Amino acid sequence: MEVIILGDDLLRQKAEPVKPINAATAKLAEEMIETMHQSKGVGLAAPQVGIMKRLFVIHVDDDIPRVFINPSIVATSQETVKQEEGCLSIPRVWAEVIRPESVRVQAWNEKGRPFTIETGGMLARVILHEYDHLEGTLFIDRLPELKRQKVIAKFEKKQQA
Ligand SMILES: [Zn+2]
Repeated sequence: MEVIILGDDLLRQKAEPVKPINAATAKLAEEMIETMHQSKGVGLAAPQVGIMKRLFVIHVDDDIPRVFINPSIVATSQETVKQEEGCLSIPRVWAEVIRPESVRVQAWNEKGRPFTIETGGMLARVILHEYDHLEGTLFIDRLPELKRQKVIAKFEKKQQA
């Protein structure tokens, strides 16, 4: 699978619910996990591979690969954390992004089973980043305007190089 990058309109569109969750969904999730690993990413949302469905996969250190289908953010902490973030669709640039420290998410897995996860730290950050992709939002949208312009300029420069 090919990861699309900043400038592609698909990254700016809202994804549609996965319905039904079936063998094809499981296969899609598996292929996305493979693409995520090959790209050395910790998360990948379906719109990033041009599939406008509400599905993302995550694999952070010391954890298992996780599949989130039709996720809802049920709650986020008042407490926020500022930490460096990157995105496979905005390669080779990073910036500090402020996000809630912890999150509670309800979703379905690739077997069609519902689950709820309450987590903090890196996993929470990646969940919120990938969820944003389903809404057509990118991490650069969460930066102050000046910082955002700088990051985009850096990205464009690196794309030309
Ligand atoms: Zn991303």
